Amino acid sequence: MPKIDKSEQEWRQELTPEQYRVLREKGTEAPFSGEYDHVFEPGTYRCAGCGAELFDSDAKYDSGCGWPAFSAPAGDEVVEEETDASYGMVRTEVLCASCGGHLGHVFPDGPHPTGLRYCINSASLKLDER
Ligand SMILES: [Zn+2]
Repeated sequence: MPKIDKSEQEWRQELTPEQYRVLREKGTEAPFSGEYDHVFEPGTYRCAGCGAELFDSDAKYDSGCGWPAFSAPAGDEVVEEETDASYGMVRTEVLCASCGGHLGHVFPDGPHPTGLRYCINSASLKLDER
């Protein structure tokens, strides 16, 4: 994966305030508020920060959790996962492997066959409809 390294100032200029808050400051958008929570158009979800392909609409499902949910990323190397022990919980954080942007978290309560729920902020994504 090509690594993208930009200054915080550059990110601030390129991203909307909400995208910056989520991607660069590990924020979380309010549940049921995001642009893609209830979007099921076919397409590719790209990183809102760098354009990397992160998820395919084929893996998107309605989890009812209030954020876009995917059962798997678009490839093994497109996202990175890290342990996040903030807010008194141990969760697995999901980051864009290309730009390091915060995407959301992954939980072990997803559908078959992966059993995973990638719970991703709409603000971190940009849908390329096909
Ligand atoms: Zn990215």
